[in-house]
This record gives sequence, C-alpha cells and structure tokens, in this order.
Amino acid sequence: MLADIESILITETQISARVTALARSIAADLVTLPREDEIVFMPIMNGSIVFAADLMRQLPLKMRFRVAMISSYPGTSTTSRGPHIVGSLPEDLRGCHMLLVDDILDSGQTLQLLRSEMQQRGAVSIRACVLLRKRLATTTSEAQSCEYVGFEIPDCFVVGYGLDYDDYYRNLPHIGILKPPPFEVPA
Ligand code: 5GP
Ligand code: MG
Repeated sequence: MLADIESILITETQISARVTALARSIAADLVTLPREDEIVFMPIMNGSIVFAADLMRQLPLKMRFRVAMISSYPGTSTTSRGPHIVGSLPEDLRGCHMLLVDDILDSGQTLQLLRSEMQQRGAVSIRACVLLRKRLATTTSEAQSCEYVGFEIPDCFVVGYGLDYDDYYRNLPHIGILKPPPFEVPA
C-alpha cells in the first residue's frame, strides 16, 4: 500500500495536533449553547470515519450521533459527479444544533446539500468542521465557507486517514498523494 503513495502531505503527528486544537475550539463554542443535549454530531460517511472518531472523543459534550451517507466520487473517479444522499437522514431535527463533520471540502456541494437538508428538517443551528479544504482557483470563497477547517491544501487528489481511492487507502494514518494510477500515465 505505501508503495502507491508518491508523497506524504500531512503526517500523523500533524493531524493529531490539529484535531486536538479543532476539538478545543469546537467545544468552547458549543458549550455556550443553552442546551448541550440538543447537539447532533453528524459525520459524513465514509470519508470522515477516522477523523470523526478521533474528533468526537475529544469533545466533552453531551451530544447525539447520527451519520449521513453521501456519495459523489463513484469507484475510480477522482472528480465529483455531484453529491447525492444514500439511505435516509433523520426526519425531525427541530431544536437541534448540528455539527457536520467531513473529510475534505472541495467544491462545497456536499456541505451545501446537507446544510439545506438540515435546515428543512428544522435544525436551529448548523456548523461544519472539515479536516481539509482544497485551495481552488475556480470556486467562490462563499461556496467553500466552513466554520472549522483543519488544513488548507493544494488542489490535488489525496488519500488516507479515511479518504479513499476506489475504497482503498482509508486505513493510511497520514494524508498522502497517490502515484498516478496506470490509466493516467501518458503513453
Ligand atoms: P465537494 O462536494 O466539496 O466537492 O466534495 C467533497 C467530497 O468529495 C468529500 O467528502 C470527499 O468524499 C470527496 N473528495 C473531494 N476531494 C477529494 C480528494 O482529494 N480525495 C478523496 N479521496 N476524496 C475527495
Ligand atoms: Mg465524502
């Protein structure tokens, strides 16, 4: 598996320090809400699985846990086909304070879709936390806005720490850049 990685962009140690800092600022904000027990921690699966597991254990809040399944990169594609919800989302979120957690913010479509779904279901506040945000030349800064961001990264396809290519590499402990797959090597 390691032989497939061209370079490491963010090390395990860097991730761990940043997750701790993110958790501190999230907890400091959410603890001021009138009712902690109405917080819903919502990881976007599958990419945020590792990040969410590390982050939630550093949030000393009484909060619920509900997952959202979104698919936008089927199989071996490395460009988004547009996000769509897989399975169901909780029907009634009246009175809830949502914390959406995702691995990476690219075009922003995934978070925009979920924010509007949460709003329609009656959530009173919606915050999002992403580990990575890609610096894009083409997207407006509004589409990429997010309350909590771990790292700003260049516009390249990354894997590891939950992020996949064709469902592989999620178990890498760091964020890496893949060697070009065979189909992308010029003839
Ligand atoms: P957006 O909807 O913001 O364009 O894309 C967000 C989703 O696309 C992420 O949740 C993630 O699943 C996927 N994605 C975007 N960029 C990358 C990337 O560089 N690597 C991987 N593995 N997934 C990505
Ligand atoms: Mg995703």
